[in-house]
Formats: sequence, structure tokens, C-alpha cells
Amino acid sequence: MPQINENYLKLEKNYLFINIAKKVNAYKEAHPDADIIRMGIGDVTLPICKAAVDAMKKGADEMGVKETFKGYEDSGAGYDFLREAVSGYYKSFGVDVPADDIRINDGAKADCGNIVDIFGDDNTILITDPAYPVYVDSNLMSGRKVIYADSNEENGFAAMPDENVHADIIYLCSPNNPTGSAYTKDQLKTWIDYALKNNAVIIYDAAYEAFITEEDIPRSIYAVEGAKKCAIEMCSLSKTAGFTGMRCGYTVVPEELTAKASDGTEVSLKQLWNRREGSKFNGVSYPVQCAAAAVFTPEGQEQIKVNISYYQQNAKTIASALDELGIKYTGGKNSPYIWLKCPNGLGSWEFFDLLLEKANVVGTPGAGFGKNGEGWFRLTSFGDKDRTVEAMERIKALKF
Ligand code: PLP
Repeated sequence: MPQINENYLKLEKNYLFINIAKKVNAYKEAHPDADIIRMGIGDVTLPICKAAVDAMKKGADEMGVKETFKGYEDSGAGYDFLREAVSGYYKSFGVDVPADDIRINDGAKADCGNIVDIFGDDNTILITDPAYPVYVDSNLMSGRKVIYADSNEENGFAAMPDENVHADIIYLCSPNNPTGSAYTKDQLKTWIDYALKNNAVIIYDAAYEAFITEEDIPRSIYAVEGAKKCAIEMCSLSKTAGFTGMRCGYTVVPEELTAKASDGTEVSLKQLWNRREGSKFNGVSYPVQCAAAAVFTPEGQEQIKVNISYYQQNAKTIASALDELGIKYTGGKNSPYIWLKCPNGLGSWEFFDLLLEKANVVGTPGAGFGKNGEGWFRLTSFGDKDRTVEAMERIKALKF
């Protein structure tokens, strides 16, 4: 009989969004005519841009012709044309990331979990709470010790390091899912200094960088001095360019980033990561990489900005309704998420039930993202414009 990985038994029984779907389905069964507006799950609703569609079609055509057909990609790290395009994108906001430090993946979620393979199981993992659940789950699955840094109302949901606590690996997500808060350059510098002092590695999730509007919020951790010596960055085209169903992202492990083996030798994390990926990952499909490269062309950038502005307008609609109701929130400015304080002291799931029943609006209970999420609630701006307006009218009518 095989032994199972008993760490799985310590995980929450159901993934947050499965719980939400169950509640919504039960409500729909009982109220088949209810007109439900979904502002819960973080999926996008606008289609991918024309530049990406055209490039994908061209890539697909090339796959059907002997002379241009592509089989396995040599390294699985991504075609040079795409790695160069990502590197050029970094340059466009003043950050130098060489193509050789970039690996293309099928979305950031898998790498957020896979990256832990290159680290030993005895590390202490520090995760800001509330957090995107993948960080916690993937470390608990391998039995690692996870500790938390509190993001709460007092610190504007932007947890900062505690000098008296040691961590080896730190997960930061900015702009943050679920809280919508984003670290300033100075705040990131504090984290980098903490990481360098503790010989720790930061795993920086920049999946929402395209939504940043404020000047002093970095689009990449590498915009901050010292980051290349302590940080791995992950990014995704899912929210930037509507690639949730296409699957493409990238992970940067800088050449400069090293860690010490138990015998004291200095080891390159980029080499370990390349070794891990070489063994376990065969790359992203060619047409999808063609589409992704098109996103980084001037034409593609212009087109995706139209969609991002559409979502940003939705965020404004949500924010101004909450302002009218006098409900506190973070996010919306540099992020597609709005994180609001449940009115009247309601718990997250209580507020979820109330919104579902009285307004037929679905959001995400903050408690599903960690203990500091209790009493908070996430709404997303990824929906349809008119439906977002309608949802906020319904919420306003509840007169909290
Ligand atoms: N990181 C964060 C913070 C996210 O919210 C998401 C998706 O919702 C991802 C990463 C993963 O995105 P994908 O796997 O679609 O690239």
C-alpha cells in the first residue's frame, strides 16, 4: 500500500471558490429566476486583443506546414522571441531583466507552487495574511513551517517585516490579491533589506502590475535596489491581457541570486530552477507564445490598455458606491480588486450570504484568504460594465 502525503490532510477541505460555487448553486436551485451578478472569482470577461488573436492564428498555421512546424522546444524555457519581448517590456518601465533570466510558463499559479521544489523542506516560509491561497497550500503540502505577517486595517493591508522574526522564504504579492493594496518603493526596500539581512529569498508575485497607476508603486521588484540578490519574480498575462484561458506567464530568477548549500558552497538558484524545469516541464505551446509576444508589441500594448481601462472604470464605479455608503475599502487604484470592510460588523460569510440573498450579488469572503480577512470582502472589477453598475445600485439600495 502506498503511503499518502499526509500533509494534504492538514489543508482546508475545500478550495475557497468551490465553497462559493456550492452556495451559489444551492441558491440558484431554490431561486431559479434570480438574476445573479458575479463579482467573486477573479476571472476576466473581455476577450484577448486582436494582435494576440492574429499572432496565434499565424502560429497555428505555421504548425500545419512542414517547413515551419515546431515540435518540442529545446529548453522549454520559452522561445527567444518571447523572452526578448518580455525583457523589452521590463525595459519599457526602466527595469533591466535579461532574456536569459526569464522562463516562460503556462501561467503563474503553477510556478508559485513549483518554485518551492528548489528549496529544502526545513525553511521557514513567511506569507502575508490574507494571501492568494496557492502560497500557503503549496508549502503546507510539502510540510513546511509557514508563519504569517499580518496585513490589516492598521497597516493599510500592507504587512511589513518584523525584525525579531526570522524567515527564509517570503511571499509578497503587489498589487495584492485579495486586498488590492500595493507596496511603495520604500516599503519594498524595507522588505529587500530584511531579506538580505536574513539571507532570505522573496518570491514576488507581480501578476497585477499592469493595473498600477501611481508613480511610486514599482511595476517590478527589480525596480528596487538589491532585489536581484534576493528576489524571484513571477508574472502572468492572465489579467494583463485576458490570458486566463490561454495560459501564459513568466518567472524571473536573476543570475545574481545565490543561496548556500549545507557544505557552504554558493549555489545559483537560476541553475536549480532551470534544472527543475528541464526535468518536469516541456514548455508552452508555440501558438500561445506567438500570441503572448504580440501582447508586448506597441499595437498589442495599446489594445490591452483599452481593456485594462475598462476594468479600471469598473473599479471606480465600485469605489464611488462604497464611498457613498461610507464603507471602508482598500484597492481599486492600482488593482482590479476592491477589499471592503463588511458593514455593521458582519463576518465575511455572513456578508456573503446577505449580498447573495438580498442583492443577488456574489463576492468573495475575505476569511477565505486567511485570518486577517475575517470581516472583509473582495469585489472584482473584471465584470461587465453595465452589470457592475447594476450590482452597485443593488448594494446601495441595501442602505447599510
Ligand atoms: N498570482 C495571483 C496573485 C493571482 O491572483 C493569480 C490568479 O488569479 C495568479 C498568480 C495566477 O494566474 P495564472 O496562473 O492564470 O497566470
